[in-house]
Amino acid sequence: MFRIGTGFDVHAFKPGNKVNLCGVEIPFNRSLAGHSDADVALHALTDAILGALALGDIGLHFPDTDSRWKDSNSEIFLTWSIKEAKKRNYEISNIDLTIICEKPKINSHRERLILNLSRICSLDKNRINVKATTTERLGFTGREEGIASMCSILLNEIS
Ligand code: MG
Repeated sequence: MFRIGTGFDVHAFKPGNKVNLCGVEIPFNRSLAGHSDADVALHALTDAILGALALGDIGLHFPDTDSRWKDSNSEIFLTWSIKEAKKRNYEISNIDLTIICEKPKINSHRERLILNLSRICSLDKNRINVKATTTERLGFTGREEGIASMCSILLNEIS
């Protein structure tokens, strides 16, 4: 038995000196705005898991009106969603995550992002793909106003 899910998220840039992606700090000349640490990649991944489990979305469980999640590490949301999967006897089969932006350039950080997802999810790195793309300078990511991320996930029943 398998369950499939997708997630999508966007965060806008604000003044700052780093962005958090997949739980990794990447030095940059701006940061991402958000109630939590604005880790757009972890939010898309968490939403993909919640989607696969038919558990709504991240905002339902961790509302941005709740001061408990102010500036919180998005790893909390991801590990919670993985626990919810385990409770239902599901584990992650594989993750395919895309980060969409002109800058920062992701490719030189890709291996670190994969290794950190591997650590958080307790998942072999050959089951995790992180891709980066631009929108050819079109739209809000093309104008360098923020970063988008999308994620597909497959969960399989634990045998
Ligand atoms: Mg978000």
